[in-house]
Amino acid sequence: MKYWNPYLETLPGESLTHIELSYFRKILSYAKRHSKLYQDKLKGIEPEDIQTLQDLKKIPLTDKEELRRYQEMEPFPYGGTLGNDIEKVTTFRQTSGTTGKPVYVPETYESWQWRIEAWCHILYMAGFRPHHRVFLPFVYNVYVAFWEGHYASEKVGCELIPGGGLDTKGRIHKILEIKANAMMNTPTYGLHIAEEAKAMGIDPASLGIERMLCAGEPMPSATRKRLEELYRCHVFDHIGGTEPCAWAGMCEEKDGLHLIEPFFLVEILDRETVQKEVKEGEIGVVVVTPLGRRSFPLIRFNTKDLVIKGGSSCSCGRTSQKIKEVVGRADDLRKIRGVLFSPKTVEELIRHQFQEVIEYEIVVERKGIMDEITLRTELDSQIGKDEVESLKSRLKESLKVKTNLSFQVKVEPQGSLPRYMLKAKRFKDLREGGK
Ligand SMILES: [Zn+2]
Repeated sequence: MKYWNPYLETLPGESLTHIELSYFRKILSYAKRHSKLYQDKLKGIEPEDIQTLQDLKKIPLTDKEELRRYQEMEPFPYGGTLGNDIEKVTTFRQTSGTTGKPVYVPETYESWQWRIEAWCHILYMAGFRPHHRVFLPFVYNVYVAFWEGHYASEKVGCELIPGGGLDTKGRIHKILEIKANAMMNTPTYGLHIAEEAKAMGIDPASLGIERMLCAGEPMPSATRKRLEELYRCHVFDHIGGTEPCAWAGMCEEKDGLHLIEPFFLVEILDRETVQKEVKEGEIGVVVVTPLGRRSFPLIRFNTKDLVIKGGSSCSCGRTSQKIKEVVGRADDLRKIRGVLFSPKTVEELIRHQFQEVIEYEIVVERKGIMDEITLRTELDSQIGKDEVESLKSRLKESLKVKTNLSFQVKVEPQGSLPRYMLKAKRFKDLREGGK
């Protein structure tokens, strides 16, 4: 079977929109009755006011800051964001808190099942099937993605191996011992496992992984292809967040990401005003409404994820809207010496053209009145001393072409830069206010 849900995945676009608007009115009505946040926020707005996609603009966006503020109220710890009686909550999750105090997310049994069903679409679209033995190389905790991956994998019928409680070497041995043939990962940890395997004298391609589903960080196509080369496997991307759930995933065509419709109503709005839907091929901010989750209603949640809007046709036959590319987080875009800079550009360059660079970090500092940007690198131990200088100058030159900025390039000793498993922090803006 090609689709997880053949009916929904091949519905004409206008039918999907129709269903989504109808679900939107329902969740709006529910949120107004059950969530303190939306009782306050949606005064004067009635479900019937929303008949077309244009009508959505009548409703203000919701952001993380508001969720935090409403969580100061009772009942602890979800406060005014809770969408049902607290006794119905069966699971606690939270955001990573990288941008401030974490947001606590309640799930009831029902909302959790809805969330897993949406995730099954992502997994199935990436070709995960019952014959896959899936290795999940993380310690599970309060973060949601592991659990989603775990339960969706079970629901799809795969055999899941929880890979927590082991170090990277232990995980590599376990993959070989149990003959795992699929994996869920972050791009960074995928690269790290490959690096560690090589150090153990094992070719990552010989681990036998056929498919890998990644998330957690924006993955440039050069990084995806690098992982595919290293493991000689198919690598897929997907995107989501703790608050809105995972809302888009890559199909086997690997040409952009499909929105998971009609589970989510996704808007891609212009960056300046966050009001107008952008056109295909343009960059916009993603605003998501999960349409079937009541424990934690979210209406028009501003994810601050930047993406390039795609079209709606795909040779896989799915009819959902697509995004062409994930650009990164709006918070990661910075002005350096007046130039708009995205750290993803550097990652793309390194993974594509400079595979000698094993790990890196970008540091921006203010020296006097000037911003200085440095790329700290760790190189492959095979690189001879005489090659280092020419590599540094090639790096400087390419960085200048790609970013319009002059970088200092430093080579650091082996193992001195931090390694990450989850959200990699390779960009450090040490200027006051980080602007
Ligand atoms: Zn497709």
